[in-house]
Amino acid sequence: MLTKVIEQAKIDHFTKWFERADKIVIVSHVSPDGDAIGSSLGLYHFLDSQEKTVNVIVPNAFPDFLKWMPGSKDILLYDRYKEFADKLLAEADVICCLDFNALKRIEDMADAVAASPARKILIDHHLYPEDFCKITMSYPKISSTSELVFRLICRMGYFDDISKEGAECIYTGMMTDTGGFTYNSNNREIYFIISELLSKGIDKDDIYRKVYNTYSESRLRLMGYVLSNMTVYSDCNSALITLTKAEQSKFHYIKGDSEGFVNIPLSIKNVRFSCFLREDTEKPMIKISLRSVGTFPCNQLAAEFFSGGGHLNASGGEFFGTMEEAKAVFEKALEKYKSLLTAKS
Ligand code: 5GP
Ligand code: MN
Repeated sequence: MLTKVIEQAKIDHFTKWFERADKIVIVSHVSPDGDAIGSSLGLYHFLDSQEKTVNVIVPNAFPDFLKWMPGSKDILLYDRYKEFADKLLAEADVICCLDFNALKRIEDMADAVAASPARKILIDHHLYPEDFCKITMSYPKISSTSELVFRLICRMGYFDDISKEGAECIYTGMMTDTGGFTYNSNNREIYFIISELLSKGIDKDDIYRKVYNTYSESRLRLMGYVLSNMTVYSDCNSALITLTKAEQSKFHYIKGDSEGFVNIPLSIKNVRFSCFLREDTEKPMIKISLRSVGTFPCNQLAAEFFSGGGHLNASGGEFFGTMEEAKAVFEKALEKYKSLLTAKS
């Protein structure tokens, strides 16, 4: 049995909307990851099975390693089909906002979502949700939005209507937001849910291979290159990896090629904080990705030094300036947090 994470009143409220709605639009965050796509498609398959008119819209493209997911071909990219997407948003009965906590995380779609007269629900697990939806289902202790989608469908009484396809999408989001169940994954109920998803006929080993073992040769070479230039700050139990625009073109970088790189330095003994600085190809800025193990609050460091945020162990931000300047800021941040980084856990 699962704990009742979502309050009954919220389940009842959403069920009422669901029963009356015909046109439902699901939206998720910019540069969608496995959980954004997994939760959106998990909900999409369920709503589709209930004869609703459902559309999933995301701000921009998502990585190739998610394109095998059932339903992914029907996802609308806002930066390509803005007019059609605007119409769907304006005419929706209900808009489900998945896996983000603030309208700015959907970038150019924010205005259309805010302006729509549709009823709006937020289903998310990021800290500090903004108040832009009538129903806010926000549970930062839950490791993925996909898990919340599973919990929501079950609590509404529709476990039997989760299809194998829907289960595959939910599983993918749960898996990717926990690094293949290697962090934020000690809640035993996760494994009860996986067991339920397996009962739908999913092949979890195959899903793992499809997500993690389908990279290009150039990505693997890029990984080798980036790691060979890594800086380890032993006195701060930290490591830094970087990737400039020039290096990206040398390795025929395509979007998503550096996905997961930031986690690799954490495999070094005693390294408990990792930073990845990547020069953006479109805007004059450096994208920052941070990961930590244990209690080190990398989201706090992201907010303080890189106008960002996120989760305790996975956060990010942006820096407008050169790579050298970003690196200097990172080193300043290390100095400030040195005592926390070297504290006995
Ligand atoms: P990633 O390193 O995978 O890009 O991001 C990890 C997590 O950090 C995301 O799930 C998100 O919660 C947070 N994050 C990443 N970039 C930003 C940012 O620019 N601003 C904020 N507030 N959070 C971010
Ligand atoms: Mn997520």
